[in-house]
Amino acid sequence: MNALNQTRGELDLDAFIQLRREIHQNPELGEHTPLTAELVASKLENWGYEVHRGIGGHGVVGVLRRGSGTRRLGLRADMDALPMQEKNRFAHASRIEGRMHACGHDGHTAILLAAAWRMAQSPDFNGTLNLIFQPDEEGLGGAKAMMDDGLFRRFPCDAIFALHNLPGIPVGTAVVQAGPTMASSECVSVLIKGRGGHGAMPERAVDPIPVLASLINTIQTVKSRNLSVDEHAVISIGMVEAGTVYNIIPDTASMLISVRTDTAQTEGKINQRLAEIAQGHEQMFGVEIELETTQLAPALVNTAEETEMLRQCLEPLFKPGHLLPHAAKIMATEDFAWMLTEVPGCYFFLGNGDGEFHGCSVHNPHYDFNDELIRIGSDCWLKLVKDYLN
Ligand SMILES: [Zn+2]
Ligand SMILES: [Zn+2]
Repeated sequence: MNALNQTRGELDLDAFIQLRREIHQNPELGEHTPLTAELVASKLENWGYEVHRGIGGHGVVGVLRRGSGTRRLGLRADMDALPMQEKNRFAHASRIEGRMHACGHDGHTAILLAAAWRMAQSPDFNGTLNLIFQPDEEGLGGAKAMMDDGLFRRFPCDAIFALHNLPGIPVGTAVVQAGPTMASSECVSVLIKGRGGHGAMPERAVDPIPVLASLINTIQTVKSRNLSVDEHAVISIGMVEAGTVYNIIPDTASMLISVRTDTAQTEGKINQRLAEIAQGHEQMFGVEIELETTQLAPALVNTAEETEMLRQCLEPLFKPGHLLPHAAKIMATEDFAWMLTEVPGCYFFLGNGDGEFHGCSVHNPHYDFNDELIRIGSDCWLKLVKDYLN
């Protein structure tokens, strides 16, 4: 009997592997995840969850209450894919041109659904379980959209947890790390306003292009000269733009800078240096420089108490030495960080294994989520629910 339809008994892992592959074949992008959200919502409904659709767009929350306990636990999975062409040829490869589940969010959704099914069978917890399925993690907008739509007001949580697969780390290994775990991300847009003119008469113009060149170089000193070795940051200039033809001095020049750090303090320091450098260039070159900073996500910081609680809870599930306190520094960003700004909790990793597909980096056209994690991940969620809600 198919676990997705049955209501009692042991987890039918194959059914959830099938479900994961079905999601993989039908990837949806960004905030537009209506089919995946409906798939999630209808399963949860069948299993007896109180289901809330359309939170912050296509976000779904499934609520399950047991006993008279007042504690409330949130578990979150992401549902969105990436705008890239899958190069895998296996049977469950993406059926949609230019879209691919290359970050394993298909797997995270399947893990939480498998856990949801198992929790629906299990009477032995006491409190409220809120399962949160969010769109648009990759665009760093989904968590915020759900929160702006009242996520934690409507479904209060005392603690919240999420997981991500980690390729290149053996299956059966987890990383539960206290403190800063994923980087912040901000985009700084720089507009240099000079005065255009004829290329033959630069003395009658205020040329923004040498200013742009000087800024590109000077910005390199922020990380190398202004931060200590303990202050982690990546500053990359991803776009520069100026001019149209060889003999016209343009009015303006612009660039976009990506700034990533692992603490709000370092981020603040960098922003201050960028502002000072811009002011210095205004004086040096007689231009006007506008800086516009958009914070896409804050640094993800796991809270001490919840991280320690999760570590103790998961310890019996992993072989000795397979529950690691640190991963290699990751300067990628995760929008679960927004949720951790309102609710304490922990974001942890499960090894996705090695080899052609599972060891391949996420966001690579050959990547695939490792289905073995559906069992391991749902074991983790089940144990956490029983420990936390009792
Ligand atoms: Zn990703
Ligand atoms: Zn991801």
